[in-house]
Amino acid sequence: MSDLTRLKFYCDDDRCIDCNGCAVACDEAHELPIGVRRRRVITLNEGIQGKEISTSIACMHCEDAPCSLVCPVNCFYIRNDGIVLHDKEICIGCGYCLYACPFGAPQFPKSGVFGVKGSMDKCTMCAGGPEATNSEHEFEEYGQNRISEGKVPVCAAMCSTKALLVGESAIIAQIYQDRVNARGYGIKDIKQSPTWKIAYYTKDRL
Ligand code: SF4
Ligand code: SF4
Repeated sequence: MSDLTRLKFYCDDDRCIDCNGCAVACDEAHELPIGVRRRRVITLNEGIQGKEISTSIACMHCEDAPCSLVCPVNCFYIRNDGIVLHDKEICIGCGYCLYACPFGAPQFPKSGVFGVKGSMDKCTMCAGGPEATNSEHEFEEYGQNRISEGKVPVCAAMCSTKALLVGESAIIAQIYQDRVNARGYGIKDIKQSPTWKIAYYTKDRL
């Protein structure tokens, strides 16, 4: 897969207004159980005037996908377009992926009074899962498969300010670059952003 065509999310935090539209759209479209948040909006420096930044976070579909490297039952698979998916039938709910993921993406539905953990759930970039495409079973386990219908993920589709971008990495990088040039500030090289491309850069490794 070319680095330029790999599908990526990017949240332009200069445009994020903390409305939570993306997160609510995700919850509703995929009929997620209470307690499972595939997408969240977080605010940094809350209350500090001029320094508050809100951004939308979900699975970043990392190129290095450390979640997949630690999974003891190898339930992850990476599609040709770069979307990182997993098979809930194989997942044993151990939680290792959550410890490996720097974005807190893996979610675990709990059931019963002692909160027994079920199979991991996370953002699929609206690409479903390993079940038959657009089958009832696929929807029950993974939610909508919009990518198979040529639609963009519902979070980005619902973002009213177009802060949340999704698409081929070269196109997303160009859109962001054009915005930075027009407003005169922002991250000059999107590849230096902490949420772009890979989860752990060499300098971050032990
Ligand atoms: S490490 Fe986290 S953000 Fe990266 S692909 Fe895995 S679950 Fe997604
Ligand atoms: S919780 Fe599931 S997906 Fe995560 S590491 Fe364990 S078996 Fe793999």
